[in-house]
Amino acid sequence: MRLYDFTRPGSVRAALTAAHENSAYLAGGTTLVDLMKLEVLAPSRVVDINRLPMRGIGVDAGGLHIGALERMSDVALDERVRTRYPMISQALELSASPQLRNMASMGGNLLHRTRCGYFRDLTTPCNKREPGSGCAALTGHNRMHAVLGTSESCVATHPSDVAVALVALDTQVHLEGRQGARTVALAEFYRLPGDSPQVENDLRDSELITGLTVPPLPWATRSTYVKIRDRQSYEFALTSVAVALDISGSRIRSARVAAGGIGTRPWRLGAVERALVGQPATLATYEAAAAPAADGARTLPHNVFKPALLRRTLVRALLALGGQS
Ligand code: SF4
Repeated sequence: MRLYDFTRPGSVRAALTAAHENSAYLAGGTTLVDLMKLEVLAPSRVVDINRLPMRGIGVDAGGLHIGALERMSDVALDERVRTRYPMISQALELSASPQLRNMASMGGNLLHRTRCGYFRDLTTPCNKREPGSGCAALTGHNRMHAVLGTSESCVATHPSDVAVALVALDTQVHLEGRQGARTVALAEFYRLPGDSPQVENDLRDSELITGLTVPPLPWATRSTYVKIRDRQSYEFALTSVAVALDISGSRIRSARVAAGGIGTRPWRLGAVERALVGQPATLATYEAAAAPAADGARTLPHNVFKPALLRRTLVRALLALGGQS
């Protein structure tokens, strides 16, 4: 790890002033410190934001509000989150390990860097770590990599579980920077890799995520997050889905569906949602709706199984949530 200077400001304004081009904000530190030890990241200044007033979980007519510094475990355990938005709690509880969830912040998790092994290995080419150097994953080990939203420059998946649930719920992200505050849709916040995979999101220089708002959705009480992975603990998704269903009688009135583990960003499945609406809650409906889930997928030699696995993950979640009429 390289030498850096360290500051712990007490206000958002002071944090923005302290930040510069080669600084990094520190919240839980569960990704940043790892990457600094590996020298994948080498900020010359670390700005500890843990004293900033960016905590709190609240529910009102505007929805669910979560401060960016709330720890993942606290949000997962919050009774209002558990009952009103089960898919958020479940996605959090299926992330990382209890120790990491106790440290990691919600804002930090949205900015989680990819778990592509080549990104963390300084001896291999990686366009995300070193633009223009190449992508070792294209010809290397790519079983965990993305099949949607990829480019010739990068095929890394976005690693966050809770971001998948939050995208399905049309979450808004609140940002603050030197030019003032703004709010953006989380779904629009993430960028596709294109030919500049090192630019992962819409954050402008020194901007901070200060909080999230999940709009009200009364029928999100019927929602779930299903994650398929190589082992049942402390592992990233091969595929995952966040699903909410509004069912009246035996007919589906509305649906929200997003997927993880398959895209270079959390992937909203609009075609699946449209195929579910107005249909009876039956296995035949679920299978037909899941059919286009991976349309446009570009598989790699080691992950050709992912489109089919995504469809099966989706049917499992829909069956668990909607049953069969
Ligand atoms: Fe780097 Fe992306 Fe290629 Fe992984 S997939 S080696 S992160 S460029």
